[in-house]
Amino acid sequence: MKIDMRKIYNFHPVEPAPDPGDLPTGGDLYYECAECSDVVSSVPHIQSACQCGNLSGNGGVLRVKDPVKVRVVRGKLK
Ligand SMILES: [Zn+2]
Repeated sequence: MKIDMRKIYNFHPVEPAPDPGDLPTGGDLYYECAECSDVVSSVPHIQSACQCGNLSGNGGVLRVKDPVKVRVVRGKLK
């Protein structure tokens, strides 16, 4: 079952937008996929992926196929 992260967290874009070639990672940082609008943790500890497959990861490492289609957001628990 897929968890809708937006029901758990409020997301705010990181400003200024980080360089796509050097995306920051962190426990409170999440990547919003510009292609499918899914939000995935930048350090996923469980199997995670966005719908279109641009973002996928596990074990604390997220793989990004196209970093240009990523918006870095900071998540705060609601
Ligand atoms: Zn996607």
